[in-house]
Amino acid sequence: MSMPGPNTHSGSKLAFKTEMNFDYGVAIEVAPGVRRMVANNPGPFTFKGTNTYIIGQGDVAVIDPGPEDAAHLSALMEALAGERISYILITHTHRDHTDGVSALKAHSKAPVLAFGETGRDRGARTTSPSGKAFVDLDFTPDETLSDGDVIQGNDWALDVIHTPGHAPDHLCFALTGERTVFSGDHVMGWNTTVVAPPEGHMGNYLTSLERFLERKDKLFLPGHGGRIETPQRVVRAYLMHRKMRESAIFNCLKSGDSFIPQIVAKIYKGLDSKLAPAAALSVLAHLEFLVERGLVQCEDSPVAIQSVFSVPQPSPSP
Ligand SMILES: [Zn+2]
Repeated sequence: MSMPGPNTHSGSKLAFKTEMNFDYGVAIEVAPGVRRMVANNPGPFTFKGTNTYIIGQGDVAVIDPGPEDAAHLSALMEALAGERISYILITHTHRDHTDGVSALKAHSKAPVLAFGETGRDRGARTTSPSGKAFVDLDFTPDETLSDGDVIQGNDWALDVIHTPGHAPDHLCFALTGERTVFSGDHVMGWNTTVVAPPEGHMGNYLTSLERFLERKDKLFLPGHGGRIETPQRVVRAYLMHRKMRESAIFNCLKSGDSFIPQIVAKIYKGLDSKLAPAAALSVLAHLEFLVERGLVQCEDSPVAIQSVFSVPQPSPSP
C-alpha cells in the first residue's frame, strides 16, 4: 500500500514515476529471467494493482501471488504451463499480496516462505489507511525467512533482506549477482510508502531505507508500479522527503500546535478529505519516532491519533 496525495510542502516535491507498460493477465519480461504479471486490483493504495513476479525459467519462484482473483490465478498458471513453482515468496502479509496464496498453493503444491510471526501489535481495522482490514492475521508460512537467508533455485538465487517499516514482517529479495531487488511496498516509484502505526514504524522504515544506500543496486522491481531504474536516487529522495516532513511536523509543534489534525491541515494543504486518515497516521508515525528519541513529549504510551504532543521546554538552569 502507498499513500496517495500531494507531497507539496515546499522543497520536498518528489518526482513520481506513474507510467507503466502492462496488460492485466499477461506476464512480461521486466529484467533478464524475471517476468511480471499485474493483478487487476487497482486503487488509491495499490496503484494499477499488485505485481506478481516470476523468477527463473522452468523451475521458478513466485513473489506475491496478489489478491484472491480467479482470473489472475488462471492467467498465472497459464503463463507457467509446463513449468514448476518451487517457492511462493511473500514480501509482507498485507492482503493485497497474500489473499491469493492459498489458491496458488493448492494448484502448485509449492511451499510458502515469508518472515512469519512478528509478535508486534498488528494493524487493526481502525488503523487501516484504506478503512479496511489489510493485515492478513491468519497467514502462516510453511517456512520462515530471516535477514541474510538465501533462496536457491535452478539458475537463480535470492538474498533475503528484512526491511521492517511499512510492515514489521516486510522482506525485500535481491537477485544474487544481478543488482536487482524486489522491493515490495518498501520502495515504490509511483508514490511514497504508507507508514501507519501500529503496523508501520517510522524509525524502522528509515533504517530499512538507509540499508539500501550501502548497496549498489541498479534496478528495483516494486510491489506496485513500474521498474525503478535509479533506485539509489529514489532511496535518497525518499529519505530526504521524510526528514523534511519530520522537521515540518516539529516546527508545527514549536509554533504551538499540539494535535494531529492541526498538523495535517498545515502540512497537507489541499488534501482530499478521503485521504485525511492516512495523512493523520503518517504524522502519527513521525511523532512516535520523535517521542522515541525524546525530542517530543506525549503522556500516552503508545501514542495515538488523539494524543497531545509538545516540545519539551528546556529546564531552567539551577
Ligand atoms: Zn501492497
